[in-house]
Amino acid sequence: MTSSLKSLLSPAVWPGFFLAGMAASAFAFSSSHPLLVFVGFYLAGVLALGALEKLVPHQEDWLRSDGEAMNDIAHTLLTKGAVEALSAIATLTPLISASILQPILNFKPGLWPEHWPLFFQVVLALIIAEFGLYWAHRIAHERLFFWRFHALHHSVEKLWVVNTGRFHVMDSLFKVCLSQVPLYLMGAPLSVFLWVGAVTAYIGLLTHCNIRVKTGPLDYVFSTPNLHRWHHSREIWESNTNYGENLVLFDLIFSTYYNPAKAPPKDIGISGRVAKGFVGQILQPFSQRGVAEILGKQPIESNLPHEAISEQKTA
Ligand SMILES: [Zn+2]
Repeated sequence: MTSSLKSLLSPAVWPGFFLAGMAASAFAFSSSHPLLVFVGFYLAGVLALGALEKLVPHQEDWLRSDGEAMNDIAHTLLTKGAVEALSAIATLTPLISASILQPILNFKPGLWPEHWPLFFQVVLALIIAEFGLYWAHRIAHERLFFWRFHALHHSVEKLWVVNTGRFHVMDSLFKVCLSQVPLYLMGAPLSVFLWVGAVTAYIGLLTHCNIRVKTGPLDYVFSTPNLHRWHHSREIWESNTNYGENLVLFDLIFSTYYNPAKAPPKDIGISGRVAKGFVGQILQPFSQRGVAEILGKQPIESNLPHEAISEQKTA
């Protein structure tokens, strides 16, 4: 691909893919099998981004296999499978849990502004959900008990579309609880949950893709790949920033927004080590030895990530 075509493509990828995802979701939600059609489009989106990663990679080095692809897929499928059984986890969770839970519970406390146009209801829901997502993510970085689960997501040494769903089940469950319970309690309708699920699913794919993108002003509204690459830095003062899942609103409000005018780090990962296999990765956070491995040191309170960052900031 010529460099002029690449430079034309870079600013078009994020908005183009996001809007295409929203159009596909609208089509899916108006079809007779919304969940099935949505998943079909979502998988097509994964393939499309996978092709773009080959054509216009952000990091050529990240195209090489890290041997974790099957584990990444297994974590994605496990969380999805668990969601279908337990009604609550991971990338597609809002969509699935809304489809299954809401009609069963028929819970309507009447706090939700159902008379608003759907677009504004979805914007409101995204902001409310983001508050929970932001704090769940920030707590996962700043508290040892939660970091032991979230470290799995940060243990990758390259970002690409396939590790979008690489989350420990406990990590996903915690995030879903904090972000979705308020919406349930307010009585948000199924259509709002479906749209929050769609936005979260497509932004999640974009956030982790290894594609050269220029997002400019979008960096001040949405969680973009450029921002999220800083969040995966090995340096704790860089990685304990940009916690937003869909929106950066709460990073801006709580001063964790980080968007310096330089290229994000190529060297990403954690100082500790996660287990090699899928089952080992699931079980590792539940043993003292496993937690010590994850931290790369003995699990004593003074080694908490948030304390390290506090020291860095006050130094
Ligand atoms: Zn994180």
